[in-house]
Amino acid sequence: MQTQLSEKFKHSVIGQEADDILRSCVHCGFCTATCPTYQLLGDELDSPRGRIYLIKEMLEGGEVTESTQLHLDRCLTCRACETTCPSGVRYGRLIDIGREIVDKNVPRSMGDNARRYFLRKLIEEPRRFKLAVSTGQFLKPFLPNAIKQKVPAKQTPIQRTSNTHSRRMLALSGCGQSVTTPNTNIAAANVLDKLGIQLIEPQPVLCCGSVSHHMSATKDAQSRMHKLIDQWWPYIEPEDNSPGVEAIVISASGCGATIKEYGDILKHDNNYAEKAQRVSELAKDLCEVIANEPLDQFANSSSTKIAFHSPCTLQHAQQLNGIVEKILEKIGYQLTVVADSHICCGSAGTYSIMQPELSQQLLNNKLDALEHDKPDIIVTANIGCQLHLATKSNAIVKHWIELLTGS
Ligand code: SF4
Ligand code: SF4
Repeated sequence: MQTQLSEKFKHSVIGQEADDILRSCVHCGFCTATCPTYQLLGDELDSPRGRIYLIKEMLEGGEVTESTQLHLDRCLTCRACETTCPSGVRYGRLIDIGREIVDKNVPRSMGDNARRYFLRKLIEEPRRFKLAVSTGQFLKPFLPNAIKQKVPAKQTPIQRTSNTHSRRMLALSGCGQSVTTPNTNIAAANVLDKLGIQLIEPQPVLCCGSVSHHMSATKDAQSRMHKLIDQWWPYIEPEDNSPGVEAIVISASGCGATIKEYGDILKHDNNYAEKAQRVSELAKDLCEVIANEPLDQFANSSSTKIAFHSPCTLQHAQQLNGIVEKILEKIGYQLTVVADSHICCGSAGTYSIMQPELSQQLLNNKLDALEHDKPDIIVTANIGCQLHLATKSNAIVKHWIELLTGS
């Protein structure tokens, strides 16, 4: 695609990065076939190609309007388009740049700004979020159905084993996950313990910055990234020159997708560029770690039927398609066939709150596909998807690692 960037963007770092991405697009339109918002709305401007044009127009000095903002807001950042694109267009990075520019040019209403700020400050602060979730759980019987559905069920904590091993990995607790489904990381620690790997979870629980990053709150996002890197660094490069951790294990694929991009996001940050790159290199989704270990001890002969929902952040952003499925089949589970497994469930970070109608349509379609073969359990690999699916699912929804502990 030919571009003529305006003077304002021609010499800026962000403009040049966007220009490289725009030029890689040959506007063939293959991506439209797998775009959930285009499938639902049928509007070219709600397709990847349409949004790419809107971003190109902005960078070339065209008018930036509320309509531009709306079409960019409606994007789930699911990145199914990236998986489909034959030219390797880095759409995920482009939409982040596009949103940052549009938000600087089109003021949002006070209500919208307040909602976005409140959401970020609530979800990314585990203590605040825990208070809100506990209050919701306590009041659940008295809440209207629409809100009741969104309050996650309280988990009874499972026992964590804590043996010492020479193989050590670092875990991200996850701001939302540590509050709503703490058993996920306990199960991960117990499974890794059986494999002779010690999982270290530094305290306090810190957020990876993903929510702020995708809501164009760049300063807040980068400040959270700095804090997390600072917390992890003594385990990566111990001061006494002892070996650092083997990997950083992330059991929420949404967080993992962002942490794997720290190196790119902070590449112009003089103080953190190198450390961020190292963190990204060490970051592994839990399935990448488990897939490389001997799994005989987890063999299972139950006839439980499992449907796996592959999060977009696992299959599109991290390009880790099929790994969880192989692990579960290897240890003896029967997996159902799920139609349109490449399509987003509508969770997408804060999308279910910011774009409730589209999100609910995607959720209904996803549950129809997942429940088609009447599974006993639905499993997934990301906290956002897990909670979103659980709001309406007839089957129990869990993180897949819990199947390996029998919990
Ligand atoms: S598939 Fe790729 S190259 Fe084709 S229009 Fe979409 S983003 Fe551009
Ligand atoms: S990220 Fe998802 S919703 Fe956004 S344009 Fe790409 S396929 Fe469509």
